[in-house]
Amino acid sequence: MLGVGAFWYAPCSISATTGSRLEDTVSPEAYAPGLSLAFRQFQARRFTSAPAKAGSGPTQVNLIFHVLSGQAMEGNVSESVLTAQVSVLNEAYRSSGLHFNVAEIRRYPDSEYFGGGCFPTTERGIRMKTELAVNPARFVNIYTCKLQLPYIAGYGTLPNEFPEDDHRHGVIIDYGTLPGSAPPLDLGHTLVHELGHYFGLFHTFQGGCAEPGDGVSDTPAEASGSYGCQIGRDTCPEAGADPINNFMDYSEDSCTNNFTPLQAVRMQAAIAAFRPTLLETAFSIGPGMTGSWFDPAQNGHGFSVEILPGNRMLAYWYVYAPNGGPVWIFGTGPINGNAAVIEGFQKVGSGGRFPPNFNPATLQNQPWGTLTFTFTDCNTGQVSWQPVVAGYTSGSMGITRLTMPAGLSCP
Ligand SMILES: [Zn+2]
Repeated sequence: MLGVGAFWYAPCSISATTGSRLEDTVSPEAYAPGLSLAFRQFQARRFTSAPAKAGSGPTQVNLIFHVLSGQAMEGNVSESVLTAQVSVLNEAYRSSGLHFNVAEIRRYPDSEYFGGGCFPTTERGIRMKTELAVNPARFVNIYTCKLQLPYIAGYGTLPNEFPEDDHRHGVIIDYGTLPGSAPPLDLGHTLVHELGHYFGLFHTFQGGCAEPGDGVSDTPAEASGSYGCQIGRDTCPEAGADPINNFMDYSEDSCTNNFTPLQAVRMQAAIAAFRPTLLETAFSIGPGMTGSWFDPAQNGHGFSVEILPGNRMLAYWYVYAPNGGPVWIFGTGPINGNAAVIEGFQKVGSGGRFPPNFNPATLQNQPWGTLTFTFTDCNTGQVSWQPVVAGYTSGSMGITRLTMPAGLSCP
C-alpha cells in the first residue's frame, strides 16, 4: 500500500472473529513519547495552578461530517442518524468533559471515494482528505463511507501525528457503524473509539502486558484486543481484569461503556498540547445574537434568545410536548466562546388561566434538562438538548436567524 510507512492510523475492527484485522506497519510507539510527556506536564499543571473557573462548562468540539455516498445513494445517511450519533458521543464523553457540536454536514453523492476509496493509507484516500478537509485545525473532520466491514470499522489519526492544520487529521468510519446499523456495531461506538484515538488514546491492549502499555495507569494491562464481550477476561499477570468495557478495547458496541478518569485527562492534555486551535472558535457570542431562531424546515417551533449582562444567555424554546400541546422551555446559562449551555426549565401545572383569573401560585418550574447552543456565525447555529424529563428524547437541530431587534448589529 502506498503511503503506509508515513503515517500511523488506528485500524479498528470489532468483528466476531479474532485475528482478522488489518495492521499498519508503523506502530503508535512513534507518537507515544510526545503524548506521554504532554500528559505528565498537563497533570503537573493541574495540581499547581488554580482550578478551572467554575461554570465554564465542558470543552466544546466542533465536528464537520463528510457524508460520502455511492450509486443509488448508498451510504447517504440521514441527518437524524448523525444526530443520534452525536448524542451517543456526548453521552460517552460527558465524564471526559468534552461536548460535540455539528458545525456542518457536507454530502458527496456518487463519490469516487465512497467504496473503499476513503481508505486513508491509499493514494486515493490521501487525495480525498486533500480535497475535502475543512479547516482541520479548528474542526474535527469526520468522513463516512464504505470500508471493509466486519474487519475495518474505522480509522482515527493521533493528535501529534501531523501539524495542527494538516488535512490528514480526521476520522473515517464505515457508515454501517452508525447508530441503528446491524449488530454488533449498532450503537455508534466506533466513532466514540476513533475519536479516542483522535484525542490521543491508544488501545487498552497497546504494548500487551508490558509497561507502559497504553500509557494510562488506570486501564489494567491487556495482552490483546478483546472481541464480543468476554466478561472476566484477564490476559495479563498484573492486577485487574481486562478493561473489556472500555471504549478503547475491541469489544462489541453493547459491551463498551466507559473511558477511565485518566483517559479523560490524557485527552484534555493532548488537545491542550497539540490541538489548541480546536478549542478556538472563529466566532463568539455577542449582544447581536439576540433575536428569534428556527429551522425553516420545522416552521412552527423555535427559539427566542437574549444576551444578558455578565456573559450569560437567556433562551426560550416555544415547542410542543411529546404527547402534544404547547410547552415552553426556558433558562439561562453561561456563554463560552461560541457556545452557551442553558439549564432549562419547563412550565408545568394545569393551573394557569387567562387574566384576570391568573394565579402564579398554581404554576411551578420543573427542571427540564440542558440546551446547548453553538453558533458558527451571526445567522447560523445548532442546538442540542439533553432532557431529564421522562417522555422527551435528546437530539439536535440546525437553526437560522428569523428576526433581529432594531438597533442591534452582529457581530
Ligand atoms: Zn482503534
